[in-house]
Amino acid sequence: MILRYDRIATELPPPSDPDPAGAAVVQELLGGRFGEMSTFWNYTIQSFNFRGRQGARPFYDLVANIAAEEFGHVEIVATAINTMLTGASPTPNGNGRAKLDPTKSPLAAVKGIGNPQHFIAGGQGALPQDSNARPWNGDYVFSSGDLVEDLTHNFFLETGARNNKLKVYEMVDHPAARALTGYLLVRGGVHQRAYARALTGYLLVRGGVHQVAYARAVELLTGADLTKMFPTPRIPTEKIPECRPHLERKEHTKLYRFSPSDYKEIVAVFT
Ligand code: MN
Ligand code: MN
Repeated sequence: MILRYDRIATELPPPSDPDPAGAAVVQELLGGRFGEMSTFWNYTIQSFNFRGRQGARPFYDLVANIAAEEFGHVEIVATAINTMLTGASPTPNGNGRAKLDPTKSPLAAVKGIGNPQHFIAGGQGALPQDSNARPWNGDYVFSSGDLVEDLTHNFFLETGARNNKLKVYEMVDHPAARALTGYLLVRGGVHQRAYARALTGYLLVRGGVHQVAYARAVELLTGADLTKMFPTPRIPTEKIPECRPHLERKEHTKLYRFSPSDYKEIVAVFT
């Protein structure tokens, strides 16, 4: 079951100047291949499919709890998109769309700017689409049933997600988009580290497997372990002002548990 709180994961600035073109770009972080719907559904499906959960702890705990956090990321990306769309045109329940004269083309100002479906299909709100308005696709989900494969995939997914967030940060200067990407860049780094640690921990537990032998051989030869791949991609979060408050609050070092009493074995992966 999921416990839901009526608040978003971190504070975003209130609506300011609308930016429908920027809102269309931020859609990539919601419904793109490396967006929050993808991280949410990958980890959710993987967590549903764990057989022998008790024996698979702490890895089951890890995937299940990161899945829950990703739901909150979907929510906060949608909030940022809606913030950026606020005021782009009159909204039905905002400032009296009913009073407008349709013959005066009240939506003409947003034609050719951003995603027309934000205005045609909905009331200037987020959609489960990428930045090209393609719908999110269930084929983005990888759930092989093999823990090492899934963890490796999840590591790669978090890597791509951070890369896309940086690109969006570079493309969109709206304060809501920058606050959003600043927060998600910091949290995504935690997830990458958690998956890498889980993977190396798991491989070490299963001594005798070829992968472990290779991993150990590489470590013996070079001193390298998977966690040494950080940071990847190389994003200087300490130089991004919107990342700094989250770094100061040590959000880049915490893995959340999304239950008051369950999933306590997660500490075995992340301490
Ligand atoms: Mn996320
Ligand atoms: Mn993540």
